[in-house]
Amino acid sequence: MTQHRSWGLTALDLLLPTPCAACGGARTGNAHSSGSLTLCAPCLAALPHTLACLDPTPPLLRAAFWWEEYDSPLGAALRRGKYRPDHSTLRTLSLGLGQAARGRLPPVDWVIAVPQTPQAWLKRGFSPAHVLASGVGESLGCPVHRVLHRGWGQAQAGRSAPERQANVQGAFSARVAVPDKRILLVDDTVTSGATASACAQVLLNAGANHVVLLAATRAA
Ligand SMILES: [Zn+2]
Repeated sequence: MTQHRSWGLTALDLLLPTPCAACGGARTGNAHSSGSLTLCAPCLAALPHTLACLDPTPPLLRAAFWWEEYDSPLGAALRRGKYRPDHSTLRTLSLGLGQAARGRLPPVDWVIAVPQTPQAWLKRGFSPAHVLASGVGESLGCPVHRVLHRGWGQAQAGRSAPERQANVQGAFSARVAVPDKRILLVDDTVTSGATASACAQVLLNAGANHVVLLAATRAA
C-alpha cells in the first residue's frame, strides 16, 4: 500500500510543483529536476548550523543536544518525513543535522538510532530515526549500527514525564555488547529524555564508555 501510494505521489510530483516540506511554499522546479531536495532554497539556507544543549542533561547521558524546536518549519518538515512518510525530506534533514553536529560533540565511535516500537515498524515500514542516524554517521564519518531492540509497547507521544519514564522501563535491549564504545544516540525528537536515558542504561550495561544524545527537535 505504501509502495502504491508513493508511486501515486511520484507521478503527481512530476506534474505539479512540489511544496516545500518545511514552509509549504512552492519550490522552484519539481521532484524530477531537483533530485532529493524537498525544502525550498530559503528553508534549506535557514537550517541551523549549530546545536543546543538539553538542560538538565537526562540521567545516564554524557551530554544531550538538539537541533531545532519541534514547533518550527524544520519540525514540520520532520513530521512530514516521519508521517507521510517521505524519505527524501528525512535524508535532507539528516545531512543538515550531521553538518550541524560536526565538531560540536564529544568524541563518538558508533552512531545508533533510538528504535521505534514494532507497531510503528509495521505502520511505516522504516525507521525515521535510523534514516537520521545514517546521515549523521555519514557526516561524522562514524559507522551506524543497529544495536538496540525495542519490545512491543506504546509510543511516548502525548504522555506526561512520569508516564514516559514508566512506559520505557524495560522496553529496550542490546543485540550485541558494545565494549568501551562511545555512542552517539540519534532520535527525531527529545521531550523529557526518558527514552534516551532508558537506551543509555541498556548501552552502559552492554559495556559502552559513554552515551551522547543528538535529537533533531526538542518538544516542550
Ligand atoms: Zn520552504
